[in-house]
Amino acid sequence: MTAATRQAVDGALVVALTGGIASGKSTVSRLFAELGVPVVDTDMIAHQLVEPGEPMLDKLIEVFGREIVGTEGRLKRRKLRNLIFSSHQQRHRLESLMHPAILKEARKQISEVSFPYCILAIPLLTEIGGFAGVDRVLLVDVPVEQQFSRLMARDKVTREQVEASLSAQASREQRLAIADDVIDNSGDLANLKPQVEALHQLYLKLGRKKQL
Ligand code: ADP
Repeated sequence: MTAATRQAVDGALVVALTGGIASGKSTVSRLFAELGVPVVDTDMIAHQLVEPGEPMLDKLIEVFGREIVGTEGRLKRRKLRNLIFSSHQQRHRLESLMHPAILKEARKQISEVSFPYCILAIPLLTEIGGFAGVDRVLLVDVPVEQQFSRLMARDKVTREQVEASLSAQASREQRLAIADDVIDNSGDLANLKPQVEALHQLYLKLGRKKQL
């Protein structure tokens, strides 16, 4: 996190940044961070929670078996992904362990924010049914076709693998239904920056108002 997050200010505006896989959330997060905005990133928290030595990793081993870690005690993500991919029940078990821990840590980081607002990067906001304390939902939106092509290019995966990833996610319509603000990422990268800058001004204003 940036220096701006070190000293807490009561009630920073919390903007949840969400969107489907490969919609451009990381790219948009980076643009906000470049403007000095604190970003609380739930994916990053999820990674940190399962570092070797973390109690969460021990819990996962208890539930899913030693086969999910390699010789140096590191989580084998692909192994775990494959395990939950083939079973709804296993997916549910993983989520019921991870989600509360992720949200707890996210809340802690939000409480330490010293800026009018923060970005809470939370890809699965729609799937988990919301997050108490979010003031505004910002959606990064792309047409599904573009999501396909960017995902295939970024992760070197096939169309079938993309279809499988998308089927576990909320639909574009479900996401749009909960969004207060929408960034249209169907254009090139140069189109993103002015949209982020305009929202930055709006969130600064709303954040300052909230803190009055
Ligand atoms: P997410 O974090 O939502 O999964 P990313 O920010 O990683 O998505 O974007 C997915 C891929 O698409 C990345 O390779 C990124 O560089 C690329 N990308 C994002 N926005 C654009 C854009 N406007 N034009 C072209 N490529 C883009």
